[in-house]
This record gives sequence, C-alpha cells and structure tokens, in this order.
Amino acid sequence: MSNIAMPHTELAGLYQAYLAKLSDQDIDELSQAKRFTELYAGDPAFRQDIYNHLDKLSYVADKYHLTIDIAQIMPWLCQRFAHDQLPAEVLDTYKKAPHNALLRKWIQYRKFLVQLRQSYRVLNDASQHNPSFHAWRLRQINRCDDTLKMSATHITHPSFAFELSDGCSVGCWFCGIAADKFNGYFLYNDTNQKLWRGMLTILRTSFGINPLQSAFCYWATDPTDNPDYLHFIKDFYDIAGIMPQSTLARPVKNVCWTKGLLDFSAKHPSIVNRFSITSLSQLKAVHKTFSAKELFPVELVMQHKQAKLSIMKSNAGRARLTQQALLNRDHNNNKKADIKSQLGLDDQHTTIACVSGFLINLCQKKIQLISPRVAGHKFPLGYKVHDECYFDSLQTFTDKINAIVEKHMASAITQDQIIRFREDLHYHENTKGFFLQNANRTYHINLGAHAKTLGKLIHHNQNIPLGTLMKQSAQEGANVLYSIGIINDLYKLGLLSDDVTTSKM
Ligand code: SF4
Repeated sequence: MSNIAMPHTELAGLYQAYLAKLSDQDIDELSQAKRFTELYAGDPAFRQDIYNHLDKLSYVADKYHLTIDIAQIMPWLCQRFAHDQLPAEVLDTYKKAPHNALLRKWIQYRKFLVQLRQSYRVLNDASQHNPSFHAWRLRQINRCDDTLKMSATHITHPSFAFELSDGCSVGCWFCGIAADKFNGYFLYNDTNQKLWRGMLTILRTSFGINPLQSAFCYWATDPTDNPDYLHFIKDFYDIAGIMPQSTLARPVKNVCWTKGLLDFSAKHPSIVNRFSITSLSQLKAVHKTFSAKELFPVELVMQHKQAKLSIMKSNAGRARLTQQALLNRDHNNNKKADIKSQLGLDDQHTTIACVSGFLINLCQKKIQLISPRVAGHKFPLGYKVHDECYFDSLQTFTDKINAIVEKHMASAITQDQIIRFREDLHYHENTKGFFLQNANRTYHINLGAHAKTLGKLIHHNQNIPLGTLMKQSAQEGANVLYSIGIINDLYKLGLLSDDVTTSKM
C-alpha cells in the first residue's frame, strides 16, 4: 500500500468511535442480544421455543448457547414487532416490563445505528469541492423524500457505486435491480489497479473525501463473484480512509474469504457490513460459522420466507417480473393483493436503489448518472438513468465525469431549459399565489399576483423554455425579479421536472 496520509474525517471515524467507547463486556452482551433478535426474527423453531417456555427462558437461552438473560431483551420485541406478530402471552408478560441495564444498552445501540444512517446522508457533503453536484444531490434528496414513501427514510444517497464484476451469479428471484447473469469480473492486475486507484483519487479531488467515503463497491453484482474484491477495497481504504460497506449474498461460500473481509473491516475505519439471508439454512450456516461477536458489526438482512420480520420487498426489477408471471398464470383467480402479499411486496417500499450520483462499472468501463425513483412502468428498476457513457482511460474517465456534471448539474437554470412542475406535484391556486402538493407535502408560494401569473403559465404550458416563460410572465404583469427568484427557489428545492430524455455522450 502507498503512504497516502489517512484523511481524518468525521464520516470515516463515526462507527469506530462508537465501538471504541464500548467495553468488552458491552460488546459481548450486545452481540448476544443481537444474535437473540436474529434468531427470533429468522428462525420459526426458535420462536416456538420462546412461546413454549415463556416461564423458563433460561432453558431456551441454554439450548441456543445464548449467554445473556434473554428475558431482559423481550420488551424490545414487543416494541419492534407489530402487535399481531406476537402472541398475546408475550405482550402480556413483557410489554410493561421495567427497563434494565442490558435493554437500555441495546436500545441505545439501535438508536445509534439509525443516527449513523442519518449522518451518512448529511455528512456526505460536496459543497466545497463540487457545489454543482452538491446542489443536484440535494434536489434528488428532496424529491425522493417527497415521493419514495417509506423507502425514503432508509436511503442515504451515496454518491458513487462501483461494480467490480459484470452481472451476478446469485440470481435472487427478488433482485430489485434485476442483475444480469454473471459475465466475468474485473481482474486485479497492474493496469487495472492503476486505473482503479487513479479513478478514486480523481473522485476524491473532484468531489471531496466524504462523498467518496459514502461509496460502496457492488450494485447489480455480488462482492464474492470477484475473488480480488478484497484487494480492490483495500485500495479503496488506502485512498478514501474507510472500508466501504459490503453486502454479501453468499457469506459462507468461502469462509476464509469472508473472515478476511470482516477481519480487515474490524481493524480499520469501516461501516456495518451486511449479509443477505436468503434461506433458513443459510441463517443456520451463518450462525454456525461466525460467532456472535464476529457478527456484531454485520447486519443480517432477512430475506427468507420463514422470517418473522423479513425485509419487505420492493415491487421492482425481478420481483416485479415474478409478480407479473404469477398474475399471468393465475388460473385460480387470486387477487393481485394476495400475490403481492405472498411475495412480500409492499407499496411502501418503492425502490431498493439508493445512489444519487454515479454508478460505475469497471468491467464495461461504463458511467451512469442515476437517482432513485418509484419503481413502476416508467422506471422498472426503481432508478432513473439520467445519462450514460463509456471511458477507456483515466483521462476519458475524468472528462466524462466532468461533462456529466456540466450537462446535468447547472448551478442556475439556463434560458432554454424547459420549465415544468415535477410530475408528482399537483398545482393549485389560492389568493396568496399558488401551492404545489403531493400526498406527503405542500409547498406554498405566497407571493401574490406575481406568483399566481407565473404558476399559471408554468401549469398551462407544459414545455415552456425559461426565456419564453419570463417574457410571457412580464407581458402579463409579473415582476421579472420576483419571477426569477421563484424559479430559482423551485429549482433549488427540486420542484421542477428533470425528466429529460437520456442522451449518449
Ligand atoms: S439481489 Fe444482489 S445477490 Fe441477489 S441477484 Fe441481485 S445483485 Fe445478485
């Protein structure tokens, strides 16, 4: 590794700083509490054991080698699971149980994880290095918060995702981004390493350290498909100062490989890694292979059908196709709602796409500018591709990234830009001006007659360029300075449509 000085930044140190404050005993207890909740969420036999031995939970703890008093964490289950997911006896016994030291510790840790997610969204700040990109990302965040329902709260809007393979060999039926079949991986050789490190260095210089630290190295790919993955993310650490998050769909495929990843992550600034649990047998294998302590910094994402609290799936990508196939051969006349419920699809989970920024595939040398959208007919993968281009060297990579920023992220609206309200917003007039509204939010533009004139013109002329709009609004008596101010505010808040045709560069 090179001698690049480790950048000291808030984002990289957040998780490690929290862990450093915990004593060995804290970590032991929290690891055990975590395993208990994983067993409860993921294993129906464990749940049954709990229900059968509510008066003797120590028996269950011994049976599953848990070393804490699991009764102390039971009140948390009552909080975490919907009432209809818990037997009345559990609720009766534990809902009003007094808090205890272990429970407080566990709740605090869970709260910290939520705050950490929020910090990743907020501290990813490119305003100093690349104000145009920063403003573009904020517009995307605002739009997503307004439109993505529950998914909006889970998305941190990372600025970059890198794919180190082409396609994915796992082939999950629910893959929200419909990964293509595996078609090879990006080799770690001298040429590729030089390109990779060069790209990361350029992004760090052009966007700042925190946006780079928000990045991760998979998308429609599984890290385990690239045997050199660890080499690449060690380079990433060397340049970004943090280990990027890894989500593994096959954590026990090569245990040495996975332990190497966890070990390196544990010894360096990192973020919680994730294992995707796609079957009950996989949950059991993971618990057998990794100690509770080894799994403490790893979130288990329960995707399997026996999970009590499995991740509700977004109706996107392959899940969407699966649903469609079932509907097509629904000879029993099942209702769409039943099929959705069988598949675990939930309308609140509108997308699994999280990046507002650049998706970069190293195998194909492809750059896409993307942002999350509600998955549906228009955006079946739950994200919009604003632009797409290819590079063949470090120089063309730099040029293409700069060209995308210039083309899509103007700091102010140009005269020829089409002005249209965002598609999800309904326009209404009132005595104070106008307001824009969707199911989530209302934006009031209370600037009287000037605003009303401008709002009406935008509403009735769906494809009007800014220059023409300004002329017409002035002819109808609106003050130009007011009008420009309103347009700029609408733009900054992401209330204008950016729904333009994707172009090839
Ligand atoms: S969900 Fe992940 S592991 Fe599964 S097919 Fe899609 S990219 Fe691959």
